[in-house]
Amino acid sequence: MNVIPVHAFNPSPLTGNGNTTWLLPGHVPTLIDAGTGEPQHLDALERALVGARLAQVLVTHTHVDHASGAPAIAGRMPHVRFLKMPWPVRDAAWHVRWEPLKDGESIAAGDSILTAVHTPGHSPDHLCFWHADSRSLFCGDLAWKGSTVVIPQAHGGDVGAYLDSLERVIALDPLVMMPAHGGVIDRPTELLREYIEHRMVRERQIVAALRMGVTDPTEMVKRIYPSLAPPLIAAARESVVAHLMKLLREGRARQTGDEWHLIDE
Ligand SMILES: [Zn+2]
Repeated sequence: MNVIPVHAFNPSPLTGNGNTTWLLPGHVPTLIDAGTGEPQHLDALERALVGARLAQVLVTHTHVDHASGAPAIAGRMPHVRFLKMPWPVRDAAWHVRWEPLKDGESIAAGDSILTAVHTPGHSPDHLCFWHADSRSLFCGDLAWKGSTVVIPQAHGGDVGAYLDSLERVIALDPLVMMPAHGGVIDRPTELLREYIEHRMVRERQIVAALRMGVTDPTEMVKRIYPSLAPPLIAAARESVVAHLMKLLREGRARQTGDEWHLIDE
């Protein structure tokens, strides 16, 4: 499979160096993720296309750094189709005609076929795109080498669903994963197993904080991530609340207003 990384030119504390979008040239020129519409991204995309017409953009999920560039791409390349798993209330923010993708659907892309794999957790609409012949996975925000993934409660994050999605991808046994952030992941299963272990450690820390009578998620963030850079505190709080919601659903914690308590085991 021929794949060209196209940088989205949107560095920030939450996106790292900025997103990578992936171009599959060939019969059906296809871009995975839309970036944020930076003119430099569109210029780089046009250079990578070397005169070919982009046919479609497959969007892994509706978060701003993956989907908000769709109208800018449509502005420069009006014939392009945009496809993603629907999340209607959020998708409406980006004004293009979204065509729906569902789990298991096959999509002609480049000179190959990709399969959509529903992998909720980071967001409810999250899709990875699987190339079975090379056992490669375009993994969006499922994984980020050298980092963990934020599970943003306020943006549809769900830790329980995320853990299930990690197991689902491990079962595919990918050889390589192309993420939206950070470098190509060459030992995916190892990294995904580390993520599962990391979430288990995090959960034990949150349960321990609750047991000590810490009721406020912001207070938990200060204990669990003592040296976190200020721009990342809100995101860490989202992850803590996502874990608390998992405990709530499992009947292990309860919420009264802004306060959280452990249900005695
Ligand atoms: Zn995201």
